[in-house]
Amino acid sequence: MKPDVTFIEITNHCNFDCSFCPNHVLKRQKGFLDIAIARKFLSQLKKAGWDDVLVDLAVLGEPFMNKSVFDYLDLCKEYGLRVYLVTNGALIKPQIAKKIFKKYSKDDIEIEISFQTPTETTYQRRYNKQHTFFEYWQQIKDVICAKYKYKSDIRIILPITTYDFMLSVDDSVVCEKELDSLKLFENEETQKRWFYDYLNEMETFAQELIRKNCFKWRKIAKNTEEPWQHAEEFGVCMHTGKQNAYEVLTQNSSDKIIYYRLMPGIFTYFKKFGLWTRKVDYLERLLKEDKDIFVYTEPRHGEEKCDLVGNIGILSDGTIVPCCLDYEGEVSLGNIEDTDITSEQFQEKLEKFAENVLICETCRQCRSKVFILDTVSTDDERQEITAYGNNWNSVEVEEDGKKFRWTKESSDVYIYAKRDWKSIDLDMKVHPFLNGAMAFLTIEQYDIVANTFTMRKKQDLKLNVINNNRVTSVSCMLEKGSFYKICINTPIFEGGSDLRKLGLMVYGIYAH
Ligand code: SF4
Repeated sequence: MKPDVTFIEITNHCNFDCSFCPNHVLKRQKGFLDIAIARKFLSQLKKAGWDDVLVDLAVLGEPFMNKSVFDYLDLCKEYGLRVYLVTNGALIKPQIAKKIFKKYSKDDIEIEISFQTPTETTYQRRYNKQHTFFEYWQQIKDVICAKYKYKSDIRIILPITTYDFMLSVDDSVVCEKELDSLKLFENEETQKRWFYDYLNEMETFAQELIRKNCFKWRKIAKNTEEPWQHAEEFGVCMHTGKQNAYEVLTQNSSDKIIYYRLMPGIFTYFKKFGLWTRKVDYLERLLKEDKDIFVYTEPRHGEEKCDLVGNIGILSDGTIVPCCLDYEGEVSLGNIEDTDITSEQFQEKLEKFAENVLICETCRQCRSKVFILDTVSTDDERQEITAYGNNWNSVEVEEDGKKFRWTKESSDVYIYAKRDWKSIDLDMKVHPFLNGAMAFLTIEQYDIVANTFTMRKKQDLKLNVINNNRVTSVSCMLEKGSFYKICINTPIFEGGSDLRKLGLMVYGIYAH
């Protein structure tokens, strides 16, 4: 399995403490990778003929925290492997910048400065006590200046991540309330305004650099009305002009990234970063400014393949991990010191693992559903249950606009009880195929400390079309302040031309 990218964590120490990074909840020991181990890994990539694989010098950690970072860059160059250097940029002081831009070319490295938090307020979430936002921004500009000063052709990417993106990558985050921790901008309009201010600021900066003869804008822009559109000259395949840059860039998806060229060899884009992990301790820290919420990550179950297995990495102690998300090394495919990742034996092991990744806790949580539930108590007469978990078909809308979803065998929903409730009400419809069949409902209470559910109620349900579209009530005490899983177990049928497995049509579930 040839990887697209490989990860070599040359250290897991970091000078920042960003809320979106799991480094602060890391259980693994902090350390620095032995250069001999890196050599072993790179020589294996070379031996396999994987010359076009990109090498990222991090899983967690800031590469420039490792004082020997240039030894690793030299090593990659020696093996002819190109480095994608992801860094926060704060440690690229003038002497380091000089060394980078004088010694290497665009064939050796590409730099991504993770300018994720683009405003003074959002920068606070990086918990960097050494630099103010202004100093940090100035530092990034100094790196850009150094690139031109040393006439380097190395490309620099400045991605912006808005936290909105972290929750909008897919519909796997179900959130009952607006979160303050994740709000970078008041609304879409402020975000757009900020973006164009940022482009204008960079234009002014570019003009300043032109005056200092850093680059000749006109020459690059010849024969064009829109000088910003020449990204392809610099190796970035998709690019956009200024006029509709905001619309284009905010539509970026991970498989097709469109960049905006700020100036020659300097690009920006909105990075769809996603949640790094869905582990509750990480999420709780990320969301720590938000009160009155309860966070639950529903593990995936069953069997599932993964395409990302094979984007192999090594952690700072040499542990081989299947992808960068296994930052704790929980999956561990061995240690590079005594493993040849190109051997038939290892490749077979990897393929077998890729066939069903859900045997591992890390993979069960990866891309799993996260529920962020509102816990403020209520005087209402009923509480709608909105946290739909495993085994539901997607929402459908009837002609009259009424929404429903089909169950699939055992379908789970979750509730954080906002007051004591006496029953669960199920607004549902029975398809004639299931007339007379039996279903049952279970209600389990969650124990946060043990991370387990305990059965509180099991109730049989006789399915009957005559009683269609009515509310079925199951009596059960739900305690205020407790979290519950409700599972609706139904027989299923296959609906003619509809190839899906279908059970009940559920219009709504309520605690009463
Ligand atoms: S399923 Fe496992 S191997 Fe695949 S991306 Fe997620 S953590 Fe990595």
